[in-house]
Amino acid sequence: MFKNLIGGEWVAGASASRNVNPSDTSDVVGEYAQADAAQTRQAIAAARQAFAGWSLSTPQQRFDILDAAGTEILARRAELGDLLAREEGKTLPEAIGEVQRAGNIFKFFAGEALRPGGEALPSVRPGVGVELTREPLGVVGIITPWNFPIAIPAWKIAPALAYGNCVVIKPAELVPASVWSLCEILSRCGLPQGVLNLVMGRGSEVGATLLEDRGVDAITFTGSVATGQKVAQACVARMAKFQLEMGGKNPMIVLDDADLGVAINCAVQSGFFSTGQRCTASSRVIVTEGIHDRFVAGVVERLKALKVDDARKAGTDIGPVVDATQLKQDLAYVAIAQGEGARLAFGGEAIEHNLDGRAGFYMRPALITEAAPQMRISREEVFGPVVSVTRVRDYDEALAQANDTPFGLAAGIATTSLKHATHFKRHAQAGMVMVNVPTAGVDYHVPFGGRKGSSYGPREQGRYAAEFYTVVKTAYTQA
Ligand code: ADP
Repeated sequence: MFKNLIGGEWVAGASASRNVNPSDTSDVVGEYAQADAAQTRQAIAAARQAFAGWSLSTPQQRFDILDAAGTEILARRAELGDLLAREEGKTLPEAIGEVQRAGNIFKFFAGEALRPGGEALPSVRPGVGVELTREPLGVVGIITPWNFPIAIPAWKIAPALAYGNCVVIKPAELVPASVWSLCEILSRCGLPQGVLNLVMGRGSEVGATLLEDRGVDAITFTGSVATGQKVAQACVARMAKFQLEMGGKNPMIVLDDADLGVAINCAVQSGFFSTGQRCTASSRVIVTEGIHDRFVAGVVERLKALKVDDARKAGTDIGPVVDATQLKQDLAYVAIAQGEGARLAFGGEAIEHNLDGRAGFYMRPALITEAAPQMRISREEVFGPVVSVTRVRDYDEALAQANDTPFGLAAGIATTSLKHATHFKRHAQAGMVMVNVPTAGVDYHVPFGGRKGSSYGPREQGRYAAEFYTVVKTAYTQA
């Protein structure tokens, strides 16, 4: 049984939960402790107690710990990647890439711990100086989703610690193993007791306790819109700082002048890889008339060649969907799209057994064409290997449709026109804009985040992470 980490001790939970491999439902990854509200409160209290010391730790101390964690994560990327693929279902190369990213993030924030910066400027009053510095927030509650089991926890834990905060993290119910391993590594890197606490368990109990307990100063959340709204309400009610990353319905525009190979590549990569389970996935492609049929034919050809199989098997292009509930939702959206009058150009059916006869949550990637902008398939996030294509006259119509969404995380365009690329970068209503590169798959050293209903609060990652994880102090001194 894998235990929770509270105040530097590994402790059994109130109950336990099985972590099941979505590629082979007869394979149990492990039994993971489930905390209850009381245990969550103990973790929060331990973090509070540790804060006084940790908030005054030196940059060197923080650098050494984060750097050591990054080194171990990178050294163990094959093993940790295998565990991640086994519990979540993305392919082994994708999972190893995600672990690599987590290691890089720890290295990056190790460096950031050394250069917190600040400003010194003269006051408007004679003889007075003004200093601006950043201080830690206190205890940060971290609530993470299942689709990036190690990268998202890493990009929240690393800056939280780098800037001197204590952490209580609650991973998603479906994927506790990767976070458990991450916390186990960190627990051996020199962190004082109570600085990092792990409470695995249910959102409605452990998550809700983090939201309500006044010992938690700030909440950083990635997950669904519905839960994000609960986080916002609970935090506003008690004036806690919060940051939300939620859904997307990311458009990718393909113009007549696009390089066809680039356009197909971007659409297939960001629509279907990682089984389409990325908040930055291009789930709707908006294509101008002159290239539409060639583009659709090219994507179908690529999809025919993709192998859907066990996530950890060599040669697999697309692993399973994460669980039965998500698979049901993905299939339901294919039916909804057809019911609304769109056409199923490829795939869209469940595959009960993989090529070895193992039962898992497999699905043939679905390409839907003739989707109209007002259809549910064009507006709602599916979060699976389901991409819809809409035909438009020209760039102006494409841009209007791209922006006609409650979301605003990422937006892409495939074009060789400098004019349209430049216009799109300025006018796409999204936090991240991609020209001739997939909407999914972003760098770890620059800000990540969206607009409108996709995100709330300061950006994550890169140097901009300091906005959330610190509070600014303005100090006046009369010499
Ligand atoms: P997803 O659809 O990605 O599972 P959720 O928003 O349901 O998105 O889950 C994201 C994270 O939020 C998970 O760790 C989950 O346990 C947690 N969570 C779910 N419900 C609540 C809640 N009421 N309060 C706090 N956290 C919650």
